Amino acid sequence: MNWIFVGASTIASQHMIAAVRAQPAGAVTWVVSGNADRAQGWATDHGIAQATDDLSQALADPEAACVYISSTNEKHHAQAMAAIAAGKHVLCEKPLGLSLAEADEMVAAARDVGVVFATNHHLRCSGSHRAMRALIDDGAVGRVLSLRIHHAVHLPENLQGWRINDASAGGGVIPDITVHDADVARFLLGEDPVDVVAQLASSGMGQGVEDSCMSVWAMPSGAMVMSHESFTHPFAGSGLEIHGTEGSIFARDVMTQMPVGTITLRTASGTREVPYSDHSLYVQGVADFYAAVAGRGAPAASGSDGIKSLAVAMAVRAAAQSGQKVTVAYGEVA
Ligand code: NDP
Repeated sequence: MNWIFVGASTIASQHMIAAVRAQPAGAVTWVVSGNADRAQGWATDHGIAQATDDLSQALADPEAACVYISSTNEKHHAQAMAAIAAGKHVLCEKPLGLSLAEADEMVAAARDVGVVFATNHHLRCSGSHRAMRALIDDGAVGRVLSLRIHHAVHLPENLQGWRINDASAGGGVIPDITVHDADVARFLLGEDPVDVVAQLASSGMGQGVEDSCMSVWAMPSGAMVMSHESFTHPFAGSGLEIHGTEGSIFARDVMTQMPVGTITLRTASGTREVPYSDHSLYVQGVADFYAAVAGRGAPAASGSDGIKSLAVAMAVRAAAQSGQKVTVAYGEVA
């Protein structure tokens, strides 16, 4: 299956080209960038045959069935709409857009045309998160009372560009990391946050956008979620804890792009380490996308999942800015 990569980005270089090439007959045959010279240089560096700054030229290729979008966030909507109109299956980076209206329009258009549309929420593709969900589903912790997400990291220097200084490009830790945490909570607990309270800060990196956020979400079951995201914490490490009536799960270093970290289950019977598969998160995500395109199941995170993670993130930002509790508005399309 041939892919058009839209956005000559870090995530594409570091993970997604390899994830496509790991699939049977998976090939990246085009790169589209805003700059023709950079597109050509990037294509040469990565062994991609065709490069252009004209998205419509790549979309006209009948041999390319799939489009992966990893441009800056403000470009996702227009690029996805063009790809869908060309009849391509789309795997789009999070956040799907800058507004719920954009995300709704993308997902609705894909449904109308009948193409697969997926969101690249990688964490739900990891062996660690899938093992934790299986524990919860099997009743290992009983009724879930709370989830604490620790996702305060240090943004690498090479990524300290639009993310920390350009609100119009979709910068800020909320569109960058809170969306992922919203998806993690939804994936692990199998329910959607109802309302949120939040505080945000610029604690050293954000210029005109927040670089840190803490929020608390109420779930329909009565469970509470506490979520912490930051770009400015060099030594915090990441993790999450799930506490239930019959047990607790402690996961360290699992909010990451790599298949690493530890999971410990503590119950009345004692404490044990939980094994999990160490497959690549991104290879799994693309494999699930392939299966959906072939009509064998759904992508790991659908367009609807992308709308919902964005809805939670937007509610968090609104709550922090207003100082009020905000009910999450998911809209009609999700
Ligand atoms: P980058 O900053 O690396 O790339 C984003 C865009 O910036 C590129 O598409 C490119 O524009 C431009 N760009 C990149 N490098 C250069 C350069 N050296 N000179 C000039 N322009 C450059 O972003 P990321 O890869 O970190 O993120 C891209 C998208 O992927 C975002 O939407 C982000 O939220 C998402 N993401 C998702 C992750 C996940 O695990 N699901 C992880 C990381 C990011 P052009 O489009 O013109 O080529």
